[in-house]
Amino acid sequence: MTSAVPSIPIGKEGARLPLIGLGTWLSLDEGELRAALKVALDAGYRLIDTAALYGNELVIGDVLHEYFKSGKLTREEVFVTTKLPYSCMEPKAAEESIKKQLATLCFDYVDLFILHHPCAMQHNEQVSKRRSVYYLQLTGAAEFTHQNEIDYLDTWKVLEKYCKSGQLKAIGLSNFNAKQVARVCANAEIKPSDLQVELHIYWPQHELQQFCSKQGMTLTSFASLGSPGRLTFRPDDDWPVGNPMEDTIVVELSKKYNKTPAQILLRHLIQRGISVIPKSTNPSRVLQNIDIFNFEISAEDQQKLLDVKSRVRLFEMRVCGGHAHYPFEDVDLTKKGDSED
Ligand code: NAP
Repeated sequence: MTSAVPSIPIGKEGARLPLIGLGTWLSLDEGELRAALKVALDAGYRLIDTAALYGNELVIGDVLHEYFKSGKLTREEVFVTTKLPYSCMEPKAAEESIKKQLATLCFDYVDLFILHHPCAMQHNEQVSKRRSVYYLQLTGAAEFTHQNEIDYLDTWKVLEKYCKSGQLKAIGLSNFNAKQVARVCANAEIKPSDLQVELHIYWPQHELQQFCSKQGMTLTSFASLGSPGRLTFRPDDDWPVGNPMEDTIVVELSKKYNKTPAQILLRHLIQRGISVIPKSTNPSRVLQNIDIFNFEISAEDQQKLLDVKSRVRLFEMRVCGGHAHYPFEDVDLTKKGDSED
């Protein structure tokens, strides 16, 4: 099965962002990821979302090159997004990371390169390995050192340099709030083309969508399905609870349209003009998630989904809590919780 995926304009030079792509966070099993990528590409996915932090750029680049060599696809037909790790935001480190990421993917350019987070931090791997409440209390050790002095505007200048050279076709931001995006826009030579944020029926980001639209930026949703797999990442963390796939309205509409809850949630967002990147390494779910272009949710039912009252931010990213550039003003950092992506 292949389906032509609709796309929206992004940046300059006639580039287009597909409205659906394959997310790859927590896709660490090489065999599973290779198989999922092939199922996805054969089914018509033309956008792959990755990040240096996901540890899978090498496999993704390798599978894509297999498709290019066999003539199944050309480089121009695929849109690859990757992200700069928060541990490489110091300008020299950013430059090195961009070069390394391009080499790992074995690409001359990436289509969209994103600052993963506004907060520069160093990850203390040794502390992470021994991570327990007692160890942290006893030693006072920090898993993450906040680099408050690193301003994302300086990192942005590095992205602009590589955008001008053509190695980053478009550049964007992730997990930035509207004020931070506005600050980048006000100081940038090249404005961000896309903002990637948590976005689903319980965290619909209406104001941010309006703001991005005014700035001429595309919006990409992560955790469109509620990211049920997040619980396997740092399982001892106190993740906020919410499962949009089990929402009463979503289940009701899934019966009405004879589609799965996941398909309703994804279709709802693309009808809002938002690009979605659901992650799956399960071949049948990879196929299911792109099978959303043969039906339309009516205006009345779209409104029902927009009217859902529950609100929950599933990714509070508390490891950056207290950082000079921590973006989420709505999160009460005095409350328990420690999740991140
Ligand atoms: P998601 O796409 O909402 O959910 C993925 C989870 O849902 C996986 O556990 C997957 O399991 C399951 N799933 C997928 N399709 C399904 C279906 N049709 N029915 C039932 N379950 C289904 O969440 P996400 O992975 O957190 O976010 C999507 C992508 O956004 C990521 O993979 C990553 O590329 C990106 N992301 C970016 C950031 C950022 O900071 N910029 C943060 C988080 C995520 P199976 O694999 O077993 O199907």
